[in-house]
Amino acid sequence: MQYRCPKCQSAKLLPVTQPGQTTARPVVPKSLVFLIPAILILLLLVSISIAMWAFGNGAGETLQLATIVMFFACVIAGFLFYRDLPDFKLSMQAFMQSQKRWKCRDCNHEWES
Ligand SMILES: [Zn+2]
Repeated sequence: MQYRCPKCQSAKLLPVTQPGQTTARPVVPKSLVFLIPAILILLLLVSISIAMWAFGNGAGETLQLATIVMFFACVIAGFLFYRDLPDFKLSMQAFMQSQKRWKCRDCNHEWES
């Protein structure tokens, strides 16, 4: 099993799905689905707050409240994801092992493991 391209050693691999073959997809935990947008929204709110402070007026109360709420949402989602992590790792490993054909995103080399 190789997680690197045998040609250029790149780690940017794409699984190639063969027609007619149902490969086991890794089970993405719901907490991760929630965590990623939550972090993105938090980053957006924080950068808006910083921009508003930089321009003198300070962040509005609604914005501050939203930022705090999103921060706690991120903490909760992060904690849930931390609990899901062992299962997620196992399902990722099972997926990597069941996947036979790979394609390299750097040099387009295809191979079977
Ligand atoms: Zn390659």
